[in-house]
Amino acid sequence: MLENAKRTIAFICPVCRQPVILERSAFQLAAAGSRLPCPCGKAGVDVEMMGGQVRLRVPCLFCEQEHTVSCSTTAFLHEKTLAFSCAASGLDCCYVGEDEPVFSAMRRLEETVDVLESEAGAQGTFLNDLVMEEILEELRDIGRRGGISCSCGCREYKMKINYSSVELFCARCDGALKIPAATMSDIEDLCCKPTLLIRGRER
Ligand SMILES: [Zn+2]
Ligand SMILES: [Zn+2]
Ligand SMILES: [Zn+2]
Repeated sequence: MLENAKRTIAFICPVCRQPVILERSAFQLAAAGSRLPCPCGKAGVDVEMMGGQVRLRVPCLFCEQEHTVSCSTTAFLHEKTLAFSCAASGLDCCYVGEDEPVFSAMRRLEETVDVLESEAGAQGTFLNDLVMEEILEELRDIGRRGGISCSCGCREYKMKINYSSVELFCARCDGALKIPAATMSDIEDLCCKPTLLIRGRER
């Protein structure tokens, strides 16, 4: 086994709705009770290696349950990409593999999520109208105070309203920040942020 081989693990955090892409060495993954958290700290993938099998517990954006999936250790450490999907929605909830195929699978999944969200949005409803209204108002407030900027230094941004989130895009570098707008706690989270930083894309 290549102990220093790198694996990329990706999922969409169901709490903050950001795509999370993490890289770990096979050695790190083999360490007992590996947890791969979202930077928000509220969700993460648990990896458990037991001899020839790997078991993953994946938080799911689509059905909001946790899925337990497993595969062989060989596949987990050597396949180009493994896709684990949500039985309830049929959509992928986690990818494991080499960084490039995992990044492109993730990009496709994000596009699918955007389409699903805008289809739902086109029907004139949000997941929670009240929450969406409050989130938009708070975002406008933060924007008026000049509190929205991108890590590339740009202060111009575009806003896209989805079914249960709002996305801010940097006008210069295409960096994006997704703000969840689904529950009351999303409002609380946003209200305690004086500024918002869009993660810029380096080219
Ligand atoms: Zn998160
Ligand atoms: Zn699911
Ligand atoms: Zn930018």
